[in-house]
Amino acid sequence: MAEVLVLVDHLEGEIKKSTYELLTAARALGEPSAVVVGPAGTAGKLADGLKEYGAAKIYVAETDSSEFLSPEVSVLSSLVESKDPAAVLIAVSADGKEIAGRVAVRTGSGLLGDVVAVSPEGTTHSVFGGAFIAEAKSNTAHPVITLRPGSVDAEPAPGAGAEEAVEVAAAGGRSATVSSREPITGGDRPELTEASVVVSGGRGVGSADDFSVVEALADSLGAAVGASRAAVDSGYYPHQFQVGQTGKTVSPQLYIALGISGAIQHRAGMQTSKTIIAVNKDPEAPIFEIADYGVVGDLFKVAPQLQEEVAKRKG
Ligand code: FAD
Repeated sequence: MAEVLVLVDHLEGEIKKSTYELLTAARALGEPSAVVVGPAGTAGKLADGLKEYGAAKIYVAETDSSEFLSPEVSVLSSLVESKDPAAVLIAVSADGKEIAGRVAVRTGSGLLGDVVAVSPEGTTHSVFGGAFIAEAKSNTAHPVITLRPGSVDAEPAPGAGAEEAVEVAAAGGRSATVSSREPITGGDRPELTEASVVVSGGRGVGSADDFSVVEALADSLGAAVGASRAAVDSGYYPHQFQVGQTGKTVSPQLYIALGISGAIQHRAGMQTSKTIIAVNKDPEAPIFEIADYGVVGDLFKVAPQLQEEVAKRKG
């Protein structure tokens, strides 16, 4: 069976949920091979999870991330050349998109970006802010595919997980190295792109102080906090939590939009959420066009009531 390379996204010895989704999606195209790039000892911590989700092989490239910029690019490129896989799967993220583009250029592969479903016939993409679904197919061998987190349900399937070491070659002429890497987290809250529930606030929240209303509802649900660009530009919430075309792409089980109008650029980052609840005092707000449940009302009244109801149900 054809091999499918899956780049493992991991942080501090933990596999990100998006990797399990990639391993699940890869099975539709062939036999998944996980590619782990990280400091010595990383693969040992991740192997059980990768096997549980169907990794037949685990390629291990040991490197200190400060040694090279994006060592994943050289590792994946050399694996594409030596193994001739059916495809390369990478999760959509700022890093993932950059790695995918560079691997595609280096290996002369087609690049299929922001995919929401894969099959042997091709890929499905959510385009123009989720307004259209497009089907695509690469005309080259081993296409590089970036899959949007949350678009595939991760399902376990046992894999042999045979480990194989891979060399990390420095690219010629490389002069830049990484001096430090700080993971961006929202404190005790789940990571925005990994969270199964996201509560986002927009300009309607009105101030940085009042974002505590958004945070309180998020915490009652164990959710991540997001923000619209207008909220970020107004200084209400930090940029790393921006959802949308120029922010993060999220696809949680539940997305709650508080005081967000629903501009196309915001929708681009959240429209594939499984269930969308919008709270907006303007009944004409475009967010209601895509909301599964809409509440026309003042977020400062509705959010605390929702929070109270959640607390009651938790008992
Ligand atoms: P507004 O459009 O001002 O909406 C605020 C909403 O809050 C209104 O609908 C109002 O009725 C409601 N409201 C006010 N008070 C209350 C209250 N008390 N209770 C309930 N509702 C209330 N935007 C993004 O979000 N993410 C992006 O990544 C992004 N990228 C962009 C890229 C480009 C190139 C461009 C041009 C724009 C981009 N934008 C992005 C901006 C986008 O076009 C919108 O301007 C932005 O999404 C609006 O944010 P908002 O909905 O919070 O604010």
